[in-house]
Amino acid sequence: MGNAGEKYVYDFSEGHKGLKELLGGKGANLAEMTRMGLPVPAGFTVTTRACQAYLATGDNPAGLAEEIDSHLAALESAMGRRLGDASDPLLVSVRSGAAFSMPGMMETVLNVGLNDESVAGLAAQAGGNERFAWDSYRRLIQMFGKTVCDVPGEEFSNALEEAKTARGATDDLHLDAADLQALVDRFKRIFAKNTGHDFPQDPKEQLRLAMEAVFRSWNAERAVLYRRQERIPADLGTAVNVVAMVFGNLGPDSGTGVAFTRDPASGAQGIYGDYLQNAQGEDVVAGIRNTIPLDELRTLDRRSYDELLTIMAKLEGHYRDLCDIEFTIERGKLWMLQTRVGKRTAGAAFRIAAQLVGEGMISLDEALRRVSGAQLAQLMFPRFDLAADPVALTKGIGASPGAAVGKVVFSAPRAVELAAAGEQVILVRRETNPEDLAGMIAAQGILTARGGKTSHAAVVARGMGRTCVCGADQLEIAADRFTVAGRTVNEGDVISIDGTTGCVYLDAVPVRPSEVVQYFEGTLSSAEAEVPLVDAVHKIMSHADATRDLAVRTNADTADDAARARRFGAEGIGLCRTEHMFLGDRRELVERLILAATPGERSDALAALLPLQRADFVDLFRAMDGLPVTVRLIDPPLHEFLPSLEELAVNVAVARERGEDHAEDAELLDAVRRMHEQNPMLGLRGVRLGLVIPGLFAMQVRAITEAAVQLAGEGLDPHPEIMVPLVGAVQELEMVRQECEQIVAEVVADSGVNVLIGTMIEVPRAALTAGQIAEAADFFSFGTNDLTQMGWGFSRDDVEGAFFWRYLELGIFGISPFESIDREGVGRLIRIAAEEGRAVRPELKLGVCGEHGGDPESVHFFHEVGLDYVSCSPFRVPVARLEAGRAAITGEDSDSR
Ligand code: PEP
Ligand code: MG
Repeated sequence: MGNAGEKYVYDFSEGHKGLKELLGGKGANLAEMTRMGLPVPAGFTVTTRACQAYLATGDNPAGLAEEIDSHLAALESAMGRRLGDASDPLLVSVRSGAAFSMPGMMETVLNVGLNDESVAGLAAQAGGNERFAWDSYRRLIQMFGKTVCDVPGEEFSNALEEAKTARGATDDLHLDAADLQALVDRFKRIFAKNTGHDFPQDPKEQLRLAMEAVFRSWNAERAVLYRRQERIPADLGTAVNVVAMVFGNLGPDSGTGVAFTRDPASGAQGIYGDYLQNAQGEDVVAGIRNTIPLDELRTLDRRSYDELLTIMAKLEGHYRDLCDIEFTIERGKLWMLQTRVGKRTAGAAFRIAAQLVGEGMISLDEALRRVSGAQLAQLMFPRFDLAADPVALTKGIGASPGAAVGKVVFSAPRAVELAAAGEQVILVRRETNPEDLAGMIAAQGILTARGGKTSHAAVVARGMGRTCVCGADQLEIAADRFTVAGRTVNEGDVISIDGTTGCVYLDAVPVRPSEVVQYFEGTLSSAEAEVPLVDAVHKIMSHADATRDLAVRTNADTADDAARARRFGAEGIGLCRTEHMFLGDRRELVERLILAATPGERSDALAALLPLQRADFVDLFRAMDGLPVTVRLIDPPLHEFLPSLEELAVNVAVARERGEDHAEDAELLDAVRRMHEQNPMLGLRGVRLGLVIPGLFAMQVRAITEAAVQLAGEGLDPHPEIMVPLVGAVQELEMVRQECEQIVAEVVADSGVNVLIGTMIEVPRAALTAGQIAEAADFFSFGTNDLTQMGWGFSRDDVEGAFFWRYLELGIFGISPFESIDREGVGRLIRIAAEEGRAVRPELKLGVCGEHGGDPESVHFFHEVGLDYVSCSPFRVPVARLEAGRAAITGEDSDSR
């Protein structure tokens, strides 16, 4: 952590965009823009490594102070001014900037270098503009107090409100120099009262303290929460950018704005942004005042507008992607304060990637890299059905798409509370700030009265895939209700918000399926030009399909599910769980089987089940004609098919009490008691059942094979694969295999049907003896649910609710291992089994059928291990196809963005 002689400070002219880890995103991109010759104020970046050292030791690393001194001296000579100089001061901003963007999470201090003397120098510099100088000074004390010294922010904002009220002013701009000078005095008193010392007058001291506060803000509670949500590693630290101040609040020919080179919400081509005249720094991002659309800057300041457009085109060409930009105009001179490859909605990601391919800017591989399965999953969410003619309440800016319905709440804690009680809520706020994060996570959607597409609410909601509508018209919010155009909505009332159109409706509006799902279903053609999103998805999915090595199958037990999955692109069934075929009206037959007292009774029960099972398989094989269908022999313990012990015991006791006939229930109760297991998941299930209950597996194998032969007779092309669950030793598989082979041989005869026999690998011992097991298996399918359960010793039915939250909080794992494969542990078992199995039998077919088969991260792992296919629920099939394509793209990203 921090080496002697290490370089901790980089001038903007020394860095570049490839140094994000070291300089943070903001610093690396400021350096890149400087190299491109764009108008960037001079400055330097203190590295993330300096922050790491500070956080580890509580002190700045050796040499940092000297490096900062010499960079500051260089900055001063470049600007021809000295930091905080009384007559002509240089002022700097001190901004955080981590490798991953964490909007609004960390700290910024502007106007560092102002004090009781240099405030006069600043006024002189600004052509005698005293108002501006005192306003800048009060902003410094306010930001410095809040950020560096933990002075409660409301004390400053209340004092500001009081000053405005005293003046009868509605806007800060109505306060004059004398008002602001008085406010500075007031702010200094607030500062001294809260900190026990005066506001520091030494500019270098201000700089050092501000920089250390930015370092510490890495560990602020909201930043920690955001990182956990976004899965950003906790130990990266933030860089600190020290930049010469330029001022957007010097009068009507100044201002500040945010812009996107394409629409980050829809992906439509064109320039988007917000501009705020005569304002400084964070006013736009914070959504505090209402902005004007960027277009209007054209009439205010044509020269700056044209220059901005030229720069935006240059940046897009350079980064080959949507860029978002912060800029300031100081008295008609444009300055670039930040750029980065912009965040965007899922739909915009697909559209922009496809557009850039169309524009010849990126390859299809690159387009595939720039979208994700998680984004595709978002696009498969339903939307509101407006045919239901809902009552429109208001309209805002569609800031993050989706259709969210829930009860209105007005505070983050209330959102968290109701969500914990299982309610769906919409968090309604005037504007959000980082303190609202927990509530935003808990809510289905977020509705704000102020701010635009670039406000805190919008940026954070888009990042987490929450539906969000911002800046809703005429929305007046009180503590427990809001009113809009004379209508009142109370806390607890249900509303619906559409994050795509910005519409807000009263009550729960019915929802309709997404266009993307309709496209997958085949009811919406990709050629329909008015649906550019579908066209983009089609192009990128086609490329994924052409690129991927992994086949994608589905887990389906019914013909309907199988048919749907096939429309979604499934290339077979990787897991048909046959136990579902033992439920419903067949329960009685299963009971007869379980209770059979003699071999004769048992074979009667099995004979009655046989035609029913066969009919199931006929339907399934028909739906998957020409494709492989893996049928797993029965897995769960048989008592799962019997009534519960408690229920039966009560029935029997009551009947006995009443003197009623209870012989049948008593017999069942005995059976249930006999079969009761303390740990059924580790008990009599899977292959063990097949070896203990004569004829059970044989009946299923016969049903499977007869169904296949019947369809082959009709001219179809069935490919049955029989899968034995829970095998731990090759002997188990050998015995079942022998029995299966006899039946298969007898039924298949000369029908031409080929039946494979394989096993699940879901017990750790099976993975570790895979070389032996492969001798008796045509294929392996990894049952990663059980493999995770048994590998960790976690009961999957119990632990997620019981204590996983704590494990996640403690960082023992970043995500539940039942959701995403644990690469090091369970993944290692898979690697071993794949390698050892293939060493013995090179043609061994390998797949996975646990839930992980549809998880984007896990799909990449299965590709790496060299599996042949993944199998997942029908709805996740497109996600798996896309991620399998992404996993297969070779080579590095051609541009370190
Ligand atoms: C598994 O264990 O991963 C599996 C697919 O089987 P089940 O979930 O039915 O136990
Ligand atoms: Mg299993």
